[in-house]
Amino acid sequence: MADRKIPITGHTELITLLATPIRHSLSPTIHNAAFEKLGMDKVYLVFEVGQDGLEDAVNGLKAMQVRGWNVSMPNKTAIIQYLDQVSPVTKLCGAVNTVVNDNGVLTGTSTDGTGWVHAIEENSGSIKGKKVVLLGAGGAAIAILAQAALDGASEIAVFNKNDAFWDRAMEKVQLIDQETDCHVTLHDIDDQADLKACIEAADILTNATSVGMKPHEDTCLVEEEDLHEGLVVMDCVYNPKDTLLLKRAKKKGCICVSGIYMMLYQGAASFKLWTGEDMPLDYVREKIGL
Ligand code: NAD
Repeated sequence: MADRKIPITGHTELITLLATPIRHSLSPTIHNAAFEKLGMDKVYLVFEVGQDGLEDAVNGLKAMQVRGWNVSMPNKTAIIQYLDQVSPVTKLCGAVNTVVNDNGVLTGTSTDGTGWVHAIEENSGSIKGKKVVLLGAGGAAIAILAQAALDGASEIAVFNKNDAFWDRAMEKVQLIDQETDCHVTLHDIDDQADLKACIEAADILTNATSVGMKPHEDTCLVEEEDLHEGLVVMDCVYNPKDTLLLKRAKKKGCICVSGIYMMLYQGAASFKLWTGEDMPLDYVREKIGL
């Protein structure tokens, strides 16, 4: 936790995160470190709020003229009904993680995909014209899909199991394919030959499923032999930081990007929307041990 040097007074402003369960979140550490470094008299606090308490919480924050807040599960879609407007990326992905309050007008957006784009571009240059293979079609995957399509990826092949996520995935894939210049397709992840061929033709591979996450860190959806040198491999899973996918990718000479950077950069994008300032990334990286 950052050491707060600015005293909390009657002037201190609140930024919050509404979700449940959420006490484990890294966001307070990230934002409070940034506020402290920039001498901003603000504090970021987490509140355990689910869908039942969401409307009251939003009305309360609005009445208190709170500048902004994050939401996470289970509120990322439910929040939309309480907002005045949403961003282009939210229109495509149907989710919000950041709300900005401009004098009572609430605008929602998702910075998860921006975090992904920034993490990839920092390591391997622009995503414009790139071919992407995206594993997963849950919340993180669809936010990445929408932002990557808006930001100029040329083709995105989404691979998912034929599970509870499939029908919504098909709907989102069709919408994003229609509404952007990116060619988006949905594939069955159990079709190993198709997955192998798409990875072979890709510039970027991202795992946005929960496979590989602790306590199942010995699991991975991609065989080492299916990876190639120069492929950018990003794993949204950041616990452990060095996932089995990233270990395999490193052995094959891929450009590896940890999901912790996506986490940090989605926070930086929210921070910019609330404060107008760039997050002091070097300082925050040090605080979260990156
Ligand atoms: P979600 O529950 O919305 O989606 C889960 C996805 O994983 C679905 O597509 C599901 O089909 C797939 N899946 C689950 N088990 C699978 C299996 N055995 N084989 C193949 N696919 C399987 O979850 P989410 O919110 O999208 O999060 C997904 C992962 O991304 C989590 O590990 C989460 O911690 C991580 N995440 C990271 C960041 C970040 O900033 N780095 C942000 C959001 C989520």
